[in-house]
Amino acid sequence: MTDLATHQAKLDGYLARFRDTGVLNQIGGEARPAVSGATFDNHSPVDESFICRVARSGAEDVDVAARAAKAAYPAWRDLPATERKAILHRIADGIVARAEEIALCECWDTGQAYRFMSKAALRGAENFRFFADRALSARDGQALPSPTLMNITTRVPIGPVGVITPWNTPFMLSTWKIAPALAAGCTVVHKPAEFSPVTARILMEIAEESGLPPGVWNLVNGFGEDAGKALTEHPDIKAIAFVGESRTGSMIMKQGAETLKRVHFELGGKNPVMVFEDADLDRALDAAIFMIYSLNGERCTSSSRLLIQDSVADGFLEKLAARVRNIRVGNPLDPATEVGPLIHKTHFDKVCSYFDKARAEGAEIAVGGRRAGDLGWFVQPTLFTGASNDMAIAQEEIFGPVLTAIRFKDEDEAMQIANDIPYGLTGYVWTNDLTRALRITDRLEAGMIWVNSENVRHLPTPFGGVKASGIGRDGGDWSFEFYMEQKHIGLATGQHHIPRLGA
Ligand code: NAD
Repeated sequence: MTDLATHQAKLDGYLARFRDTGVLNQIGGEARPAVSGATFDNHSPVDESFICRVARSGAEDVDVAARAAKAAYPAWRDLPATERKAILHRIADGIVARAEEIALCECWDTGQAYRFMSKAALRGAENFRFFADRALSARDGQALPSPTLMNITTRVPIGPVGVITPWNTPFMLSTWKIAPALAAGCTVVHKPAEFSPVTARILMEIAEESGLPPGVWNLVNGFGEDAGKALTEHPDIKAIAFVGESRTGSMIMKQGAETLKRVHFELGGKNPVMVFEDADLDRALDAAIFMIYSLNGERCTSSSRLLIQDSVADGFLEKLAARVRNIRVGNPLDPATEVGPLIHKTHFDKVCSYFDKARAEGAEIAVGGRRAGDLGWFVQPTLFTGASNDMAIAQEEIFGPVLTAIRFKDEDEAMQIANDIPYGLTGYVWTNDLTRALRITDRLEAGMIWVNSENVRHLPTPFGGVKASGIGRDGGDWSFEFYMEQKHIGLATGQHHIPRLGA
């Protein structure tokens, strides 16, 4: 059998049980349908075939889940950190043991290519291991002595939290949010994206099989406007960790205002990759291609705006176009595939609308710009050239395998174009001029910047964006800052003077 046929056969085995039972919620350690009994159908973007029914939850399901998380909270908070650490490591072991199942299900559910999903599943395990080890120091604080007091700080978990995740690499992103919350001592209600529910259910099963007590982590499926909204409004949920679109973040902020929710937002991006004439152009080309055409371009950190210096633009764009034409579009289960289908028809329509916009705005479609095939939500890897930064194709997050190339004369113009955008998630700078790199990293409005590199994630570093790309940071200790409260304790060291009123 070919690799594709082997993967297809294994996938059929893994999905069989979902075809029978559907994807249920998991609340207080029990698999449950929605209270109303409602479901929705989940289809694969590869061939639009039916995968499974999914519980369509509403406010009543969220309420049961939030109460389960609240009930489980004191015991989880008070569990010795060494025990939390051990459970989280067992979850990581469970993920590794089921990595192939997770990867194949993720491919079929989201359209993401196997070559990337096999790594994303293992990266999910790494996230659990990283935060498992940090659980031991989560409550550490400082000693800040003053003349009369020994001031100490400590951190305590904030309480039950809501985690709302999107459909792009949903498994990895769920682990990225949930692992630090659990390590901090919070309990969780997770609402995964409606377009990609399968691996969130597998992850939940692994967690409970690993000894996570019932109610510590609850899974509620459903749509954003009902289950998601109810979670953001629930009074027992103390904070919302959200990954998704900028406009949804804005809605969540409004929804959470009544109950004064703490929010952490990882939102959209339209990230520049700036290529200067003195750069290693071959490496810059590889990185620019990887950062926009991997993960189907459905990647918040994608380098979706190529800013290329005039003096080297012609040669660079010619090589780029040849490589983009060569990208292998196909079945995501095939290990040779580089780009799979977009998640859903709605998103496919959105991405395709930019092909018309590019033409209308006067840009050139140098490569692609069409649907690929006639079954499933595939688009051709696309390159727009001759673009200016005021065009919609340069300003809006397309979130597909679509790159907009813009030329610049000099560093000042490159900086001006790079920052002239509502978003500020990442930036990529290619230059061998050290002082230029320092000037640019200082002025670029982005939460994360890589110089002469693609995005290489290092878990202790802060992850997040500025402007419309987000609020707050994940990674290292920054995750604990979100899931925990600082507490100050002042202990008198002697008999200092206390003002005596009414004496
Ligand atoms: P989305 O905002 O449409 O949905 C994300 C989640 O929010 C889903 O679970 C959805 O059901 C839920 N939701 C929708 N409306 C809601 C509401 N009113 N209240 C509560 N929840 C609601 O995003 P998407 O289309 O699933 O994901 C793609 C977006 O995510 C892109 O913009 C991408 O850049 C962004 N993203 C950002 C990062 C980052 O780290 N900055 C990472 C991955 C994805």
